[in-house]
Amino acid sequence: RNNAEKFEFQAEVSRLMDIIVNSLYSNKDIFLRELISNASDALDKIRFLSLTDKEVLGEGDAAKLEIQIKLDKEKKILLLRDRGIGMTKEDLIKNLGTIAKSGTSAFVEKMQSSGDLNLIGQFGVGFYSVYLVADYVEVISKHNDDKQYVWESKADGAFAISEDTWNEPLGRGTEIRLHLRDEAQEYLEENKLKELVKTYSEFINFPISIWASKEVDVEVPADEYDSGDEEETTDKTKSEEGEDEDAEKGEDEDTEKKPKKKTVKETTYEWELLNDVKAIWLRSPKDVTEDEYIKFYHTLAKDFSAEKPMAWSHFTAEGDVEFKAVLYVPPKAPHNLYDSYYKAKSNLKLYVRRVFISDEFDELLPKFLSFLKGIVDSDTLPLNVSREMLQAHSSLKTIKKKLIRKALDMIRKIAEEDPDESSGKDGKEVEKSDDDDDEKKGQYTKFWNEFGKSIKLGIIEDASNRNRLSKLLRFQSTKSDGKLTSLDKYISRMKSGQKDIFYITGTSKEQLEKSPFLERLKKQNYEVIFFTDPVDEYLMQYLMDYEGKQFQNVSKEGLKLGKDKNKELKESFKELTKWWKGALTTDKVDEVKISNRLDNTPCVVVTSKFGWSANMERIMQAQTL
Ligand code: ADP
Ligand code: MG
Repeated sequence: RNNAEKFEFQAEVSRLMDIIVNSLYSNKDIFLRELISNASDALDKIRFLSLTDKEVLGEGDAAKLEIQIKLDKEKKILLLRDRGIGMTKEDLIKNLGTIAKSGTSAFVEKMQSSGDLNLIGQFGVGFYSVYLVADYVEVISKHNDDKQYVWESKADGAFAISEDTWNEPLGRGTEIRLHLRDEAQEYLEENKLKELVKTYSEFINFPISIWASKEVDVEVPADEYDSGDEEETTDKTKSEEGEDEDAEKGEDEDTEKKPKKKTVKETTYEWELLNDVKAIWLRSPKDVTEDEYIKFYHTLAKDFSAEKPMAWSHFTAEGDVEFKAVLYVPPKAPHNLYDSYYKAKSNLKLYVRRVFISDEFDELLPKFLSFLKGIVDSDTLPLNVSREMLQAHSSLKTIKKKLIRKALDMIRKIAEEDPDESSGKDGKEVEKSDDDDDEKKGQYTKFWNEFGKSIKLGIIEDASNRNRLSKLLRFQSTKSDGKLTSLDKYISRMKSGQKDIFYITGTSKEQLEKSPFLERLKKQNYEVIFFTDPVDEYLMQYLMDYEGKQFQNVSKEGLKLGKDKNKELKESFKELTKWWKGALTTDKVDEVKISNRLDNTPCVVVTSKFGWSANMERIMQAQTL
């Protein structure tokens, strides 16, 4: 085209496109849900803007917030159109030519080796999946602030943008035309597309329609048609059998009768709605099936891998602040959950009265729960205010508080329903069916391995929920036999007369098991918790007590094992301890003491009660290097 401006894709995008074009990945269907998800995002954006400025929607068809699919079998084009916010020329260059999200190059590498494209939507590059099925793509877009433009590319390293002077004006929104590859002609079949939309995009909150063909009966004058296939309705002698015969007879018969009419099948087209736009969270939980919750999760999380979420919670909050919410524990932690922990945004979508507001609302959940996915729809928050004003709204505090409670309940239930966990818990077994058992077995260990660190960070960050979170804590100990155990179980096993909860910190369980600090404790059958994660040192600065019991680091001063019978020993070794202290000089050690913590080892260096443990010293040293 004459007026086209040429651009090169960012190198990273080019590489990604090469992989997609050459992919042998069999599930090419994913492109459609990515396009629909983008259309839905664009519609959410314009609807949000319209809350404060009605004008942005325009009039007539443009104001209808919908998604439409059309097929052109002759030209082999699949067309998807939305009446969303659209893209300016600048948007087209930036959004469909460069990669915004970090972590994408890691994804590209992973995709190259695993060939799994399922997670593409989570990496902010879903659009490019169109090249799984198309060799040429046109994106026509009209944003309120700009003219209508066409973006086009054959995935050959470059794209072109032209001012659109030849297509019909869109009013507002985006139309994507996929020129399908020869081997992707199945996407010209209506039924295929209907099925895809129904499976993957059932929970999109805007109507999705397809320009569907329909066979209808139409009456026409008989002589307009000569084929014998059609039914003839005016023929009085017509019988069930031998229609063809009748038809022929009808035509051959005398023409003196009134003009005959025939009913013929004709193909007409009309918009057929493919989804039910009633939001799942507005339905009563008892009417929503497990399968629907799982599918809704897939749409919400843009995660179409086969795995199910570990748990979900669907509830309504009433009272001063009213809202409905669905929360999910994902099957896996995202790859960078703890790398960018403090930068991570919450993964909840906030709606106000069915209108999507934002998915970057940090005021909804604390950092340590940012791994949860879900939606919150509030009737209490005001609709027609800016995002900033909403962010400062006092109801958000109440919502947050309730969400945390519900989230922790949901996590607690994973443990309660896990047969591996319940055995031995207060001596009572929870009754459940075998099927349930199989599915729930080991779930809490799985949860702990993925998200345990978040629970620890929660204990550090959230004093008001510290006790609830402590109940969710798991660890190994000298008596846990390689499995995970809890503080409640630890307490149930405490020796009579034992006052404190004993723990030790270090780099690994194997290393700690050899520690001289454990000698006597083991021999006397005391249980000691192993804390081997660097975060545990910080954790123990916040976790002071649990159920009225203090925590005692066994490598620190202050260890009390039953009664102190060492008075005489202390006396008789007085001279030696004095000599030691002199020999080591005062700035090396604070004190030299007789203790009953050892068995075989003659002496150990103990850290002071309020100082850093040796393990903490090691961590701090590693950090400053
Ligand atoms: P993501 O949707 O995760 O951001 P995509 O690769 O799917 O990543 O899309 C990239 C960007 O292109 C989107 O963020 C959006 O800004 C823009 N975009 C894509 N499709 C549309 C559309 N139909 N309407 C408006 N903008 C769109
Ligand atoms: Mg997308």
